[in-house]
Amino acid sequence: MNLQDARILVVGAGLMGAGIAQVAAQAGHAVTLYDNRAGSAEAAKAKLAATLDGLVAKGRLTPDAASAALARITPVDTLVAADLVIEAIVENLDVKRALFAELEALLPDAAVIATNTSSISVTALARGMKRPGRLVGMHFFNPVPLMKLVEVVSGLGTDPVVAQAVFELAGRWGKTPVHTRSTPGFIVNRIARPYYAEALMLLQDRAARPELIDACLRAAGFRMGPCELMDLIGHDTNFAVTNSVFAANFYDRRFTPSLVQQELVDAGYLGRKSGRGFYRYP
Ligand code: NAD
Repeated sequence: MNLQDARILVVGAGLMGAGIAQVAAQAGHAVTLYDNRAGSAEAAKAKLAATLDGLVAKGRLTPDAASAALARITPVDTLVAADLVIEAIVENLDVKRALFAELEALLPDAAVIATNTSSISVTALARGMKRPGRLVGMHFFNPVPLMKLVEVVSGLGTDPVVAQAVFELAGRWGKTPVHTRSTPGFIVNRIARPYYAEALMLLQDRAARPELIDACLRAAGFRMGPCELMDLIGHDTNFAVTNSVFAANFYDRRFTPSLVQQELVDAGYLGRKSGRGFYRYP
C-alpha cells in the first residue's frame, strides 16, 4: 500500500487538525478540512495563511511554496471521500466511533483511517467498524509542523500493511515515525502523565507557583515546564487524556486526575486556546 499521492481528509480543524493539514499540504497532498463547528475549517485556513506568511517572512519558505500549500487546502462543510482520513476531533471514544461509522459509509474500501488520539485504545475505537483493519493511530505532537515524532499505533485488529503505509508516509513528511502497540497513553503520553501529575500536586500543595515550577524544569534542561506545556496542549484535552489513561490502567492511583485541572476545565480556562490557563494570553 502506498499513500504517497493520497487525497487526505482531515477531520477536526482545531490545534492539531490545522497543523496536520499544513504539514500534509506542504508535502504536496490535496487536503480537505472538515470541522462540525460551523466556520472552524475556514477560520483554520485563514490562520494557516498567516502562519505560512510568517514562514515566508522568516525566509523558511518561498512565496510560491506557501501559496501552493495554501491552495491545496479546501475547507468543506460536510464529510467527503478521501484515500486517507486523519481524525483530530475531541478526545472521546463514543464521538470518534460515531465519526468512523459515518466515514465508512462514504469511503472507498481501500481508504485508511488514521486517528490522532492521544490515549484512547485503537483496538476499542475499531470495534464496530466494518473494516477494523484500516484503523491505525497516527499520533502527532504539538505543534505539528515543528515536532518530529509520530507514534504509529496498532490496535489488535490493525492491518500491518496499513500501519506500515502510514509509517512510510510520516517519514516522507520529514517526521520520525515509530511503531508501537496500542497500550494506555502509548509511549510518550504514558511517561508524560506523572510529569504533569507531580506539577499539579505541587500546585495543590501550594508548594510553588506555576512560574516557579516552569522555571525550575526549564533550568533543568526541559524545553518547556509542565504548566506552560499543559496550557499549550489545552486543559480540556489534557484532562480527557488523563481520565482515559487512568481508566485504562484500572484506576491505578499513579494516574489519578487532578482537582486543580478539573477546576481549570470547569472554568473554561483551557490554556492558550481560550486566552487563559495557568497563565493569561493576550
Ligand atoms: P481542539 O479542541 O483544538 O480541536 C478539536 C476540533 O474538533 C474542534 O475544532 C471541534 O470543533 C472539532 N470536533 C469535535 N467533534 C467533532 C466531530 N464529531 N466532527 C468534526 N469535528 C469535531 O483539540 P486538539 O488539541 O486539536 O485535539 C484533537 C485530537 O488530537 C484529540 O484526540 C487529542 O487527544 C489529540 N492530540 C492533541 C494534542 C495536543 O497537544 N492538543 C497532541 C496530540 C494529540
